[in-house]
Amino acid sequence: MKNIYFDHAATTPVDARVLEKMMPYFSDNFGNPNSQHAFGRRSVCAVDEARDTVASLIGAKPSEIYFTSGGTESDNWAIRGAAHANAQKGKHLIVSAVEHPAMITTAKELEKEGFEVTFAAVDEFGRVDIAKLEGAIRPDTTFIGVMTANNEVGTIQPIAEISALARERGIVFFTDAVQAAGAIPLNVNDPAVDMLSFSGHKFYGPKGVGVLYVRSGKRIGKIITGGHQERSMRGGTTNVPGIVGLAEALRLATADLSQNAAYVASVRDHFIARVLNEIPYVKLNGHPKDRLPNNANFSFRYVEGESLLFSLDLAGIAVSSGSACSSGSLEPSHVLLAMGLPEGLAHGSIRFSFGKENTIQEADYAVDKLKEIIVKLRALSPLFPKDLKNEVY
Ligand SMILES: *Cc1c(COP(=O)(O)O)cnc(C)c1O
Repeated sequence: MKNIYFDHAATTPVDARVLEKMMPYFSDNFGNPNSQHAFGRRSVCAVDEARDTVASLIGAKPSEIYFTSGGTESDNWAIRGAAHANAQKGKHLIVSAVEHPAMITTAKELEKEGFEVTFAAVDEFGRVDIAKLEGAIRPDTTFIGVMTANNEVGTIQPIAEISALARERGIVFFTDAVQAAGAIPLNVNDPAVDMLSFSGHKFYGPKGVGVLYVRSGKRIGKIITGGHQERSMRGGTTNVPGIVGLAEALRLATADLSQNAAYVASVRDHFIARVLNEIPYVKLNGHPKDRLPNNANFSFRYVEGESLLFSLDLAGIAVSSGSACSSGSLEPSHVLLAMGLPEGLAHGSIRFSFGKENTIQEADYAVDKLKEIIVKLRALSPLFPKDLKNEVY
């Protein structure tokens, strides 16, 4: 029985070198950085060092880095914190229609509080329509949030243009870089952004730890109140091993970025080429070129995404249908619908997301299994045209 993991956009294993760096902070160096003794001081040093590392890797100052519990908290903090801090200036927010649920759901919560939200449209590739976004900007717009790259279809957004539009009007620009971190180069000054989020577990670091970058001079409200941690902006005893692990994972991911990206893209491109050549009635979703190196998202016509996922799982191949967060529900993905995919195709979508430990042999095995499974599922489908059933592929 194979055990092939093609779901790196959902999470990644912790790199052994990261784990090794974290271990002492669970046991010997367990001190609370808020404590006034040697145990505490050792932890303060570790967190300071991690903050310096993270800051220098993304072109930020250490004072602009806030450690959080992950991407979801960072996204919540960015939109809520900015919306509340600027509420006297205006109550209109813009986020793209293809943001992660951490943003979309929070934006909808803010609507209930009296904020107005425009969900900016995307084109057929999932890219934000710049003209429409510019048209949606109002005098009372205080926040624009567009992700650097999409978690479902991998499309990379024109962040530089969007950020320029926002910032030249004094509107706070935030980008969710959770999928981008470790996959494409990140620098908060190129293109210049006001806020940016990422999460350790998406680039071979630990789960439950993330970062929110906030440019100095930009005001945001607090969402977690408590002690004086994170310069009194986010209470809660510091997750020292997590923070140490996140910094080490980002350091390794950045050092190996071009090499890893090229390798992962070569496995992914081989996989895409075989699927498109050998399986009929299939569509590659997302942008053909401007996409993350690890992402392949397909819609298989006449096939139900969930059935395909379960059959692949039985064959020992782990993938995701639609988005991991909404799997289990039969709602088609909001991302594919925003891209204008008909419901039939949106329901048959599967995301394969590759990682540095995957091989061409695994990709080949997966394509072979996929072909077998799709023939079987289509033969059972009442929607599949009868005259195509005996077609050999
Ligand atoms: C995974 C993900 C998140 C959520 O991050 P967590 O650390 O899992 O909370 C947010 N945005 C994007 C684009 C993601 O892929």
